[in-house]
Amino acid sequence: MSRGGRKAAKDDFVDIVDDTGADRPAPAGAVPAWRILIVDDEREVHAATLFALKDLIVAGRPLEFLHAYSADEARSVMERMPGIAVVLLDVVMEKDDAGLQLVRVIRDELGCADTRIILRTGQPGYAPELEVIRDYDINDYKTKSELTRTRLITSLTTAIRSYEQIRLVLESERGMDRIVRSAPVLLAQRNIGDFAEKALGLMADLLGDAGADGVFCTRRLPNGDANGEDQLFIAAAIGAFAPFGGQDVVAISDPGLFEALERCGMSGGRLHESNGIALCVGSGETRALLYLRTGRPLNDLGRRLAEVLSVSIATGLENVALFQKLDFFAYFDPLSRLPNRANFVSRIDECLRRGEQDWTVAVVEVDHFSDINAALGHLTGDLLLKAVAKRLRAGFPDEVTLARVSGGTFGLLGPDGMLEPAQVLAVFEEPSVVDGQSLMIQPYIGLERLSEAEGSGTDVFKNATIALSRAKNERREHWQYFTRDMQVAAQQRLGLLHDLRHAAEAKRGLSLHFQPQVDIASGKVVGAEALMRWQNDRGEDIPPYRFIPVAEYSHLIIELGEWVLRTACEQLRDWDRAGLPGLRMSVNVSPAQFRDPDFIGMARRCIVGTGIDPGRIELEITESMALTETETVVETLRRMKRFGVSIAVDDFGSGFSSLGHLQRLPLDRLKIDRAFVADLSPGSSGSTIAETIVKLGHLLGLTVIAEGVETREQLDTLRQMGCQEVQGFYFSPPVPADAFPALLKKTL
Ligand code: C2E
Ligand code: MG
Ligand code: MG
Repeated sequence: MSRGGRKAAKDDFVDIVDDTGADRPAPAGAVPAWRILIVDDEREVHAATLFALKDLIVAGRPLEFLHAYSADEARSVMERMPGIAVVLLDVVMEKDDAGLQLVRVIRDELGCADTRIILRTGQPGYAPELEVIRDYDINDYKTKSELTRTRLITSLTTAIRSYEQIRLVLESERGMDRIVRSAPVLLAQRNIGDFAEKALGLMADLLGDAGADGVFCTRRLPNGDANGEDQLFIAAAIGAFAPFGGQDVVAISDPGLFEALERCGMSGGRLHESNGIALCVGSGETRALLYLRTGRPLNDLGRRLAEVLSVSIATGLENVALFQKLDFFAYFDPLSRLPNRANFVSRIDECLRRGEQDWTVAVVEVDHFSDINAALGHLTGDLLLKAVAKRLRAGFPDEVTLARVSGGTFGLLGPDGMLEPAQVLAVFEEPSVVDGQSLMIQPYIGLERLSEAEGSGTDVFKNATIALSRAKNERREHWQYFTRDMQVAAQQRLGLLHDLRHAAEAKRGLSLHFQPQVDIASGKVVGAEALMRWQNDRGEDIPPYRFIPVAEYSHLIIELGEWVLRTACEQLRDWDRAGLPGLRMSVNVSPAQFRDPDFIGMARRCIVGTGIDPGRIELEITESMALTETETVVETLRRMKRFGVSIAVDDFGSGFSSLGHLQRLPLDRLKIDRAFVADLSPGSSGSTIAETIVKLGHLLGLTVIAEGVETREQLDTLRQMGCQEVQGFYFSPPVPADAFPALLKKTL
């Protein structure tokens, strides 16, 4: 083919007439243009094409022309400029098939699958093979003479539309691919901040707005901050909003964000667009709002992809909420929403790591909490705990960490000067009104100063708890600082438990002493209280006040209690055989024994096994146990009663019993606590209480026995009050079994 021939064809093209009538001026504004690359070695063709396509608008967008005069040049333009919609390509340039070769480069080497190609040639002889048109996805092949202006525009418009279609398909494929890849990323997040940041980044990327300003707002998930749950806060922020991360959403004054919040925010909509996009994801507690200020509306594809990604985000969000909840339950007390013990201990650890010297750990226990809980019900108990938590929080600066470390026990951690015992006691000076009742809360406090601490947070916590039990046991001051000798005492208790366990196993060193119970009217012994005695392997007598609490705490009391009941029954049988009158035998029962599911079975076996009439056995329960109105306690008492044994309430008067409580229980006897007997001088509070107990007993048809009677005066006072029985050193201390028969000859 001669240059002349091609020239002629080109001239036809250059002279094309305007037959479209399609020219419209491009609209103002920054609508992106379609990029068209004209590749031709003839400058006139460039000019003519420009002229022909001048001011053309396709699908609302103008055209932007790029020019190349050889295949090489075209290649380098394409490498530099992305997003070329159509290449108008001359077949014959530096070589006869330069155009066709460029097609291969575009598809195979540059990987531009979406760019449309319109081949133009001067003569039909240069038409590519059909396979080439198919394999290289060529849109159109026209000889230049065929391309009138109308045809050129039609052909170009079709190519642009198909470019747009392909691009949408590819973008949607790419978008879906991204969404699929994003799912595991979103699901891997464990906390809301990281999650929100990832979600925002993925959305911005997906919509091609990586630099956009955006926020991810959500309700605060439970985190121990009792106040902030309903507030919307910014879990993550990107772009210009980045400095607002972590703050309440009101910190940002962006009209688009406000509109979004109002329109879809928490009212249930999904996707909204204004100055950007706002997506409401999730539902219920785990609802969140994702807002991106893109400055332009989304296209259809973007909208669809955003909605698909929002499903992934919602799932991920639920996942994060679940993790946060698990975390919450692992480190917070759900009732008070305060840190729990594990959390408290790790905060002490943090303090130790920071080397805080002048800090104190305080453990504060609400005295008698379990009694209050039992007497007034768990709901009131819960309200009481919340009231205490609130008081403590209000009573100390934020710097002081507050935790609930167990039942009625709270932990405080703060600078020495803020945590003096007096400051803690001051918090409880006024009574608390709980559920309409005014309750005076009596705290006990154990403290340890970090300056004196050795070991880890666990050790410090344990030491403060040891100091707390010391404060409770001594009951003089309501607080104690931990000292080394307390630790020694605690270690001794541990040693004691070890020895006691051996004694229980080998039944070695354990014995019972018996204290007579005397009828005031006849002056005769009517019963005996069995009291445990223990001599350890080193020959030391360990008093019950030391070993009983350890046995209760370790549940060893269940085993020991069985031994006591069996031995007491056997003793009664032996005395019967020896011809003693039919005495009553009182046996002490601890709450831990009572809670043991085998308790009733065990008691029956002991009593029936020795052939003793159950009516001669009396179980002494504590007042707090009598107060525990749970169905199982009442039911156990009733069943024991039906079996025939009688029930006495020991150390009566110091708890919270009310007439109503006592009436519901199948009781036989009240034992006036020896503290009131010791204080029986006329007009003293002890005598008032003793008298009240006697009256209460009569009212309920119960016998009243006074324990700890040491003097004639006490006996006389009690007799005058109408008390029926006494027990105490005045008549006899507890004695070994073989010394007991002699006491029966004695009268009051
Ligand atoms: P409790 O059941 O209230 O027993 C009465 C305690 O008062 C006994 O102390 C007794 O020795 C003491 N006592 C008796 N008369 C007088 C007196 O006139 N003045 C004074 N100051 N004290 C008097 P003990 O034997 O040391 O026992 C103390 C507590 O240990 C008992 O108090 C009881 O709660 C518990 N305990 C003893 N043996 C057992 C047992 O076998 N099982 C259980 N669960 N607890 C037991
Ligand atoms: Mg007793
Ligand atoms: Mg007692």
